[in-house]
Amino acid sequence: MNESRLSRRSDIGAKIRVSFEFFPPKTDEMEARLWDTVQRLEPLSPDFVSVTYGAGGSTRERTQRTVRRILEESNLVPAAHLTCVDATGEEVDRVIAEFAAMGVKRFVALRGDPAAGVGERYLPHEGGYVNAAELVGALKRAGDFDISVSAYPEKHPESPDFATDIEMLKRKVDNGATRAITQFFFDNDLYERYVERVRRAGIYIPIVPGILPVHNFTQVANFSARCGAHVPAWLAERFDGLQGDAQTHALVASAVAAEQVMDLVERGVSDFHFYTMNRADLAFAVCHMIGIRAPHTDGASAAA
Ligand code: FAD
Repeated sequence: MNESRLSRRSDIGAKIRVSFEFFPPKTDEMEARLWDTVQRLEPLSPDFVSVTYGAGGSTRERTQRTVRRILEESNLVPAAHLTCVDATGEEVDRVIAEFAAMGVKRFVALRGDPAAGVGERYLPHEGGYVNAAELVGALKRAGDFDISVSAYPEKHPESPDFATDIEMLKRKVDNGATRAITQFFFDNDLYERYVERVRRAGIYIPIVPGILPVHNFTQVANFSARCGAHVPAWLAERFDGLQGDAQTHALVASAVAAEQVMDLVERGVSDFHFYTMNRADLAFAVCHMIGIRAPHTDGASAAA
């Protein structure tokens, strides 16, 4: 790593904002782990933390429970994800009202994936919102919310081309979205080219890169294939042979994520959204390296 990057690290933290994404836990053990993660990341003062949403009653309740707990037991600002899947417009409106009654002011509005699974054909629910753009409109009608939406640097797998994909983003922005969070990616050139395309289309909201620290390369590679994210050969090479070596895998993952984020900082990016997978360690380490620190931690004591 070159000297100028290192020497500039200490003053960039103040300009950088981060957010963290969690998923609602299914078991008591997962709940305890999530709460450890929340408590470890809270002192980093993220802009917000978001909680994902799944179709079906029990998943929905878990999201609501998690958001409520964050509101009641932390100083963090939660953003509730919401999808159009398997619900009528009225049902979605009711969920929005329930979140609003809890005190939620931020949402991440998504179409969602087919209940049958990623890769299956998406069919809107009868009487439901057809896509994320319609959902953004519903949120806007329901209150003065901060609304984020998705963006796809490698385009959504269902989009025939980038023009169609970016047209959908434009519809979401026209309906009231003020921030887009990207699908994870590993090649920063793809992100930069995508942002150029988005700007050329007259879209000026922040396109916040979604950073996925690689907790488990095999899982990430499988998931990437399903959601259309490219895994570069150099990334596979870095994790090659580490499946049975958790400690080295974590060290490499931390280096890879830090390298990606620091390169984006060099390119002028100042907001980052971390897909934490409910684990604090890698996101915390990367934040530390870009100068995002808990107030009482200074460089000298950390080095001692
Ligand atoms: P949209 O923005 O509505 O559409 C995505 C793309 O699909 C568009 O760009 C468009 O080109 C294409 N498309 C859509 N409709 C049509 C059509 N009729 N004809 C042609 N092309 C079309 N999933 C969850 O279930 N829960 C979550 O909490 C969740 N959180 C996410 C957070 C982020 C930041 C991201 C990036 C994704 C998340 N997802 C989540 C996954 C997301 O639901 C899927 O990627 C889903 O397939 C698309 O949802 P969307 O809101 O991006 O869709």
